[in-house]
This record gives sequence, structure tokens and C-alpha cells, in this order.
Amino acid sequence: METGKTKIAFYDACSYDKESFSEQNKNFLFSIDFFDFHLTEKTALTAAGYDVVCTFVNDTLNKAVIATLKKCGVKMIALRCAGFNNVDLDSAREAGIKIARVPSYSPHSVAEHALAILLALTRKIPQAYLRTRSGNFMLSGLTGRDLNGLTAGVIGTGKIGKVMAECLAGIGMNIIMYDAYPDNEWADQKGFKYIPLIELFQKSDVITLHCPLTDDTKHLINENSLAMMKNDAVIINTGRGALIDSHALVKALKKRTIGGAALDVYEEESRYFFADWSADVIKDDMLSRLLSFPNVIITGHQAFLTTNALKAIADTTLQNIKDFTEKRESKNTLV
Ligand code: NAD
Repeated sequence: METGKTKIAFYDACSYDKESFSEQNKNFLFSIDFFDFHLTEKTALTAAGYDVVCTFVNDTLNKAVIATLKKCGVKMIALRCAGFNNVDLDSAREAGIKIARVPSYSPHSVAEHALAILLALTRKIPQAYLRTRSGNFMLSGLTGRDLNGLTAGVIGTGKIGKVMAECLAGIGMNIIMYDAYPDNEWADQKGFKYIPLIELFQKSDVITLHCPLTDDTKHLINENSLAMMKNDAVIINTGRGALIDSHALVKALKKRTIGGAALDVYEEESRYFFADWSADVIKDDMLSRLLSFPNVIITGHQAFLTTNALKAIADTTLQNIKDFTEKRESKNTLV
């Protein structure tokens, strides 16, 4: 396959994707068609005639979609994200379709967003912003809490978790961590401590999630773990929505047995996120309920969205496709 002739169907394309990929593609010269709809069982036939499909976190890549892609002649799935919990890897392997991802683009982009929503939550920035916009400079009800001296529990200390732990240490928080595969050398260097998960739930004032979504981590935050937490602990999730059992979280928020949550991801986000629903009715009662709490902040899966990250994502995704077309081994290949 020659680079210039390789045809890419690009799903769920937003304006910033078109800009960053068109700019980086000047170095690759692939033929890219941008589709603003998701790749789903209903839309998969649109891949007919393309060599590669380029997808994001809320595209569907289950057995049925992969079978259709195979029939359409697709040879590669280029994920323009790190997480691949939405991909049936076994079906892709059976179909002989290659998959590559972008394992790292800017861990700082995600960690800085996690820090931003943590501070926005604990200092009530959304409420303060709305007040001053309408000329109300009263401070009652805006009392926050120093994070300095409190304890942060970091779950998942890979690329993003490490940056987040270092950021939180920078504002004077004590760092405790849990990881299924701890990096003890880094922890010793930083003076941070790995502890058992249950202890982390019990001791943390801030719990921040940076592990991948797997069978083991699905609903890691559930009724049991929430019951172990301090009543004023706050949970930050920039990982994947299903790390938290939303039903259990809402229950704890209503009972006031948890201090708040700042969420960049939501377990049923694929229907609503990355789209404008402001003039429509949100039928997901769980999402609406979460949005209604004064101590919950939700952003629409935007932690990755910095110019630095977008440039790196486009560059690595296109390089992954080039490696595939030129039959080069790549460490970013999943299948
Ligand atoms: P990474 O692979 O570098 O780190 C993940 C860490 O989690 C590893 O240290 C791993 O050992 C640990 N881990 C694995 N299983 C675990 C378990 N059962 N319990 C505890 N820890 C476990 O990944 P990363 O680049 O740091 O990204 C972390 C996650 O962040 C990704 O999986 C993705 O879901 C999410 N993410 C979100 C956004 C966003 O925009 N919101 C952007 C990028 C990544």
C-alpha cells in the first residue's frame, strides 16, 4: 500500500480534529475523509472502499462492526486515543485487521485538567463565576478548603497518574497511591507511598482515578468503596466513566456521605458527550441528576484537549498508519 493512496475514513470528526489532522497530514499526504458521525453498527458500511478507519473513544468497535469493516476491505483501525476498552481485540485479530493506538500524547494535558476540576470543585469556581457575571460579588456560600496538608489517593500511577501525583505534591498534599503494578523506584525517588486499596479509600481526602477501565477496575468506585471513604472526600475521574458506579455515587451524594465529585467522563457518555444537547431534552436521568448537584462538576471528556496533545495525537496516529502501510513494526500496535 502506498502512503499517498491510502484512504482513511475518519469518524466522529470535530473541528479541532480536522484542523490538527489536516495540518499534520501535510507531512504524510494520506487521503482523509472526515465524517462527523460515530462508527456504529448502523454506520459501519460507510467504511467501504477505505483502507483504514480512524476512531475515537466513543466509536463502537465490537464484533459486529469489525465483521462489517472486514467485509468493507478495511485493513487497519487507527485509534486516536490511548484507551482501547471499546475495542474487541479478539475479533480484530480473527479478522486480520491491525489496530494501533496513541499510548501517550501529553500526560500533562489530562493531569492538568484533573487538577483544574479538583480546584474548581473545592473552591466553588463555577458558582463564583456565575455570580460575578451577573454582578453579584457576595462571598457567602463560597467557602472552600485548603488542599495543602490533606491526603490525595492516586489510583493508577502510569504516565498520567504520575504527573497528577507530582502536581498534587506541588500544592503540599500528602500522596498515597495504589497500582496493580507499582513503580517502587519512582515512588522512592519522590517519597510517595503505595498502600493497599482499602486503606487508600479510608485515608484519602481526594481520590483521583488514573487506571484503565478493565474487568478488574469496572465500578471500582461502588457502594462498598464509597462507604469506606471520608464523608468529605472528593472523587476526581478523568479515567473512564465506568470506573464509577454512577448509581452508587448519586446515592452517596444524596446521603451526603461523600464530599463531591469532579468528572470528565461518565459511564453512559457516548450518547451525549461531544455533541450539543443544549436545546434538547436529556433523557438520561442519571446524568441529569449528577448535573444537578452543587458539589459535582462535569466536563465533557475534554481532559486531552490541548493544542500540544492534539498535535501529538495527529502526528502519532498518522505515523502509526504510515508504519502499517510500510510494513514496519510499531510499539503502538495492539493487534
Ligand atoms: P498508563 O497505561 O500509563 O497507566 C495506567 C496505570 O494503571 C498503570 O500504572 C497500570 O499499572 C495501572 N493499573 C492497571 N490496572 C490497574 C488496576 N486494576 N488497579 C490499579 N491500577 C491499575 O495510562 P495513562 O496514559 O496514564 O492513562 C490512564 C487512563 O486515563 C487511560 O487508560 C484512559 O482511560 C484515561 N485517559 C483519559 C483521557 C481524557 O481525556 N479524559 C485522556 C487520556 C487517557
